[in-house]
Amino acid sequence: MVSALPFARIALAIPVPDLFDYRVPAALDETVVPGARVRVPFGRGVRIGYCIERSAEQRHEKLKEIEAVLDDAPLLEPDLLALVQWTAHYYLCSVGEVIEAAVPKAVREGKRRSIRWARLLPAARSFVDRGAGAEGRAKLLATLRDTGALPLKELLDRAGAGDSSAKTLAKRGAIEIVHAPTREFGGLPDPNATRTPTGDAPWRTPPPYKLTIEQRDAIAAVEEALNPSRFQPFVLEGVTGSGKTEVYLHTIRAALSRGKGALVLLPEISLTPQTVERFRERLGDVAVLHSLLTPIERSMHYGRLRQREVRVAIGARSAIFAPIPDLGLIVVDECHEESYKQENAPRYHARDLAVVRASQLGIPVLLGSATPSLETRENIVRGRYVCLSLPKRVTGHGRAEVEVVDRRAESADDGPPAMLGPKLVMRLRETVERGEQALLFLNRRGFARRIHCGRCGFQLLCNDCDIGLTYHKRQDRSLCHYCGSIRPVPTICPDCKSPGISRTLPGTERIEETLHSIFPGVEIGRLDRDTATSGTRMEEIITRFRDGRTQILVGTQMVAKGHDIPGVTLVGVIDADVALGMPDFRAAERTAQLLCQVAGRAGRGDKPGRVVIQTRQPEHYALEAAALQDLERVRIKETAVRKLLLYPPYGALVRVLCEDPDEERAFETAETIRRGIEKMGVSSVKVLGPAPAPLGKLRGRYRVHLLLKAKERPPLHRVASRVAWAKPRWSTTKVVVDVDPTSLM
Ligand code: ADP
Ligand code: ZN
Ligand code: ZN
Repeated sequence: MVSALPFARIALAIPVPDLFDYRVPAALDETVVPGARVRVPFGRGVRIGYCIERSAEQRHEKLKEIEAVLDDAPLLEPDLLALVQWTAHYYLCSVGEVIEAAVPKAVREGKRRSIRWARLLPAARSFVDRGAGAEGRAKLLATLRDTGALPLKELLDRAGAGDSSAKTLAKRGAIEIVHAPTREFGGLPDPNATRTPTGDAPWRTPPPYKLTIEQRDAIAAVEEALNPSRFQPFVLEGVTGSGKTEVYLHTIRAALSRGKGALVLLPEISLTPQTVERFRERLGDVAVLHSLLTPIERSMHYGRLRQREVRVAIGARSAIFAPIPDLGLIVVDECHEESYKQENAPRYHARDLAVVRASQLGIPVLLGSATPSLETRENIVRGRYVCLSLPKRVTGHGRAEVEVVDRRAESADDGPPAMLGPKLVMRLRETVERGEQALLFLNRRGFARRIHCGRCGFQLLCNDCDIGLTYHKRQDRSLCHYCGSIRPVPTICPDCKSPGISRTLPGTERIEETLHSIFPGVEIGRLDRDTATSGTRMEEIITRFRDGRTQILVGTQMVAKGHDIPGVTLVGVIDADVALGMPDFRAAERTAQLLCQVAGRAGRGDKPGRVVIQTRQPEHYALEAAALQDLERVRIKETAVRKLLLYPPYGALVRVLCEDPDEERAFETAETIRRGIEKMGVSSVKVLGPAPAPLGKLRGRYRVHLLLKAKERPPLHRVASRVAWAKPRWSTTKVVVDVDPTSLM
């Protein structure tokens, strides 16, 4: 156990690229191991850090000593240590920062929840004792025989024996002393749990139907990579309802059968009790990791995973760092979802980390989606990922019929057109009259719920964010959706002093009102940020709709995702152009993905579905693709453009965002960075900007950005790393380096 290496390299959660070297005092030699949490002197105070490795080399003359090791067992197992190091390097943040984002605070600091346990070993049966202290040891063994394992302290108290008796017994192989959580946190693992079971792991409830051929083929392909285990990403392409979850369940079971654990990532919004129940029902207990857990619950799930008490973890983005011994399979459902990308440091993409973790472990990873991103599709084209497809829905009707309605042809000459055009209203009427259900989707971002002057055009903006305030009717006030600041609505225009201040209602609210007037007596629901104020409120709204009490549901993004509501036969997209008009090179792709997802909501039950999409650009290829439900068209169209402009997946992208309360400083910082990059003389890296970000001011800070592009990643990484670790000139300036950004706002 004694290490010959006198130094340790420690990661601290501060934004500097380096690890810090410390001397390991003799007393801590055994416990300062990679992954251990330690307390070290730093500057004039102390800090918590994480041991990354021991080292023989003294790189500085004067090294301080590590003060203490904070837990009985290392915080991170070697596999996670490798993953956090990879993440820090790739996303340009410090290893300490990644560790603190990866391991929840409650788990990091839950040191008292792990204690020393004594466990009887088979050798104890034939154990012959002699010499001094044999009596104490015999008593100790006798006490332990009843239970097989006890917390060490409790055992010593009960047997009236001393620490040295236990140590001697451990040395002679009669017992072992191991670190494990207290009883409340899972206790000592079952010694049989680590044994690799053979044959199939049992279903808790067997699947109630026969698999389709496509499902069987997909499962067989993944099983082949489980046995023997090898790294292989698979893309499971299939619309909602095509039986993807069933494939996940079978392949997870196959991993469990080989004594392996499994990790399932879902977008936070899909992590509903129903989803979790479906996994539990079939596989037995699973650990659930999401943002709403209390610290105690979170530590408990972590403890049970680390102790192999549960072998399957389901969670949102950050669960990619879940501690699962002998991980054998990773599943990423809805892998196209942008919520997998973390929007603050470390800005990792959980889908990409899933592939990295799988490759580090040499295991398969299964990426499921109806609308895989162009990055994922390109990986299929290049032969890196294997595509498994489930071409049709297992239940209900096939593809819904999509009607693209040209709003230019529909709009009247006088005044702005109604948000619900005649065609959509007609389809709604048919649906309501048949007693069926409809889902209306509005991309909220486009409908600035503006408060403006009808005479001079003045618009009420947030002072800190430079975006239009939105009007909330119920509270009769205006709200900034970025910083949350609230302002009363002026009665006269601050600019021209005319009294004509008008309030445009939020899109969804306005549509709800319109629907009430067109369909009196029909129950109409609304699902958006204002009504779904909590998880339970959201469930209530969805439950009323699922039960059939609500006949028309209007909503934002929230209605587009995941919820399986069989009664819906009509889906209406109120304005497809909003997504198309976003200032982002991914706008067309996202529009097509979104429209396909929304269309997938129609006709899930035993009745055929219909989709009406309102647009002013029906000839756009994103809409053509949506009409045909064929995303391949978008990939083909986008390839040429993105290749030419070096946008992903045909180039690598890094965004540098400079924020400062002073506009000049934000610009100057960006300009300095651009000049610095030019001086580096890396001609393969193209710099765009500086330019004001589309959200030019947020929470009182001006935002100016640069985009760095390159065909190959290494030179780009070199340049970006220089930018990331440089200190801005002013202390008020914040420079954010986002590798593989998904948002360019
Ligand atoms: P997805 O994950 O792609 O949305 P699911 O696996 O949830 O699809 O399957 C959709 C529905 O079809 C579920 O109710 C599921 O129980 C059912 N299902 C899945 N596979 C089959 C099958 N082979 N035969 C009949 N029903 C199935
Ligand atoms: Zn005015
Ligand atoms: Zn604001």
